[in-house]
Amino acid sequence: MIDSIAQAGEALAEFIERHPKLWVITGAGVSTDSGIPDYRDADGQWKRPPPVQHGDFMASLAVRQRYWARALIGFKAMREAQVSGAHRALAALESMGYVELLVTQNVDRLHQRAGSSKVIDLHGRADMVACMTCGYQLMRHAMHSEMARMNPRFAALDAHHAPDGDADLETDFSTFKVLDCPRCQGILKPQVVYYGDVVPPARRLAAQAGLQNADAVLAVGTSLMVYSGYRFCRDAHAMGLPVASLSLGVTRADALLTHQWRAPLTPVLEHAVGCLQQRLLD
Ligand SMILES: [Zn+2]
Repeated sequence: MIDSIAQAGEALAEFIERHPKLWVITGAGVSTDSGIPDYRDADGQWKRPPPVQHGDFMASLAVRQRYWARALIGFKAMREAQVSGAHRALAALESMGYVELLVTQNVDRLHQRAGSSKVIDLHGRADMVACMTCGYQLMRHAMHSEMARMNPRFAALDAHHAPDGDADLETDFSTFKVLDCPRCQGILKPQVVYYGDVVPPARRLAAQAGLQNADAVLAVGTSLMVYSGYRFCRDAHAMGLPVASLSLGVTRADALLTHQWRAPLTPVLEHAVGCLQQRLLD
């Protein structure tokens, strides 16, 4: 395994030297080392029931009661998560001038905390909440504190943490009081693109525009199973750009890939950064 990590790291460093303007896309694998659980296994299949759908969240108070009651417990995993070696290595690549743009499908803001600045949060950010009627915004921790005060019985519960700030809690949620917009009583929703929702067009176009200035795509820790991420790899392939993937499992874009390393992210990225730093010194 040590050899294969070093080999993958050297091959990745070589790839980056040859294509120094990277368009990077990251997914859940980058944050699993930070203790944030993942939805899919190495074959890209669901490990657990898929997350809440946008339409169901908006249409049903019962769905929102269940969502927020579970989030009061599960969101602690996201709030307490620390940046991983993979986040730090990608920030190092940016500081060395190798990253044109980093598009993340994660909503945990850990790339920014690690020091990356050229980041597009494709699927939004979980630490903010917005009113779906008037656009009023508030920080999620403030909403959680308020709902914990409104629901002391639920706030005292604990359960196994699940992906996306969810928790494996099953109980009667019908008495849970959901906080509505303090300005218009509208529905408050995390600023996250849910399944069944669309990426805001301006954000998608900004991510796509980055491809014009890049000379390769590097996908890290993502199965690319979600179309909103996969489409960029398809576009890059159509533009004749090399598309590389570093991930533990299969990806939906396997047929498009020019380079693929199926290996643990953090050690391979750290090895690649080390090689590149060494070559800068030589
Ligand atoms: Zn409102």
